[in-house]
Amino acid sequence: MYLTQLGWNNFFQNHFSSRQLLDLFPARVSEENRGFYRVLSEQGEFLAQLSGKFRFRAETNPVVGDWVAVKRNGAAMIEAVLPRKTSLSRKTAGRRTDEQLIAANVDTVFIVSSMNQDLNFRRLERYLTIVWDSGARPVILLNKADLATDPYAVCAEVESVAPGVSIHPLSAKTGEGMTELHPYISCGLTVALIGSSGVGKSTIINALTGLSLEVQEVRESDDSGSHTTTTRQMIVLNAGGILIDTPGMRELQLLENENGISNAFADLESFAENCKFRDCTHRNEPLCAVIAAVESGLLSADRLQSFHKLQAELNFVRTKTDRFAANAKKQREKRACKSVKSFKRT
Ligand code: GDP
Ligand code: ZN
Repeated sequence: MYLTQLGWNNFFQNHFSSRQLLDLFPARVSEENRGFYRVLSEQGEFLAQLSGKFRFRAETNPVVGDWVAVKRNGAAMIEAVLPRKTSLSRKTAGRRTDEQLIAANVDTVFIVSSMNQDLNFRRLERYLTIVWDSGARPVILLNKADLATDPYAVCAEVESVAPGVSIHPLSAKTGEGMTELHPYISCGLTVALIGSSGVGKSTIINALTGLSLEVQEVRESDDSGSHTTTTRQMIVLNAGGILIDTPGMRELQLLENENGISNAFADLESFAENCKFRDCTHRNEPLCAVIAAVESGLLSADRLQSFHKLQAELNFVRTKTDRFAANAKKQREKRACKSVKSFKRT
């Protein structure tokens, strides 16, 4: 297996050489399981662990898709994570709103929707925002075209909430439109899929991999000797390209920043440039170009409303994050005080 087939390119090569990681070699993380990382490299596939030095430096832990520098004399040890080209993250479950990284170095994210059900534009906008935030390129797949009476009308509708994004109608069931995806999965490019349950992600993955998800499943024994069934989280496709499909991908939640929002609302932002006030919220400010665009019919009122809604959610997430960060800082200071005290005692 060549590194380029796994997605290696100049970006990673430059970081790798600049750090003079001489006795180390690069490998890509294909799975993480209780402190063990399955990695793919020119030396094949094997399990690696974080080195003591790495853990001591307390860098962020590797995730699926990461390129790591590995040392192998006997056991394989991960010594460093190379800088990420893109990073897809989500809000962690529960009340905390810190980010959780779910996959790294994804080039393209297929946002999957279904033509018949679930064509929820607001949700689509959120997914777009998440993908823009990650640095990856969003591409919208409108699956189950075989069930729609006029697939192209649906596409046109979706286009209005996703300016500048490629949209592909297709049917994973009949195979129609699937060849449109080939450019995104050519050699060395990494793709991932997000979308609600039932829209056909597994069916699309099966069509791309030529495997059925059941076939992909691998049985592994854990420490207690009992078997657990997991599916492959990173697959190198026969057509070239690498597919990432982790459980985290499947439960992606909202966590955007303004950057992502303005990309997902590029049409609105282009009007906003002409607002009188730089910090215009487009609610009731005088000389607001966005409100003017809605009034003259150039921008839909729905679109402005969903912008406001997303902005409000974002503010909510942000205040929670700030509070969480403040608490964490207090905890850290407390711990630091304690360790200074115990140090003095000895
Ligand atoms: P996932 O939850 O997103 O992984 O969705 P699945 O791949 O499990 O698909 C959900 C259901 O939709 C299954 O019954 C599929 O057979 C069906 N399905 C998937 N793609 C298509 C399609 O292109 N056309 C039709 N008619 N059904 C599809
Ligand atoms: Zn305005």
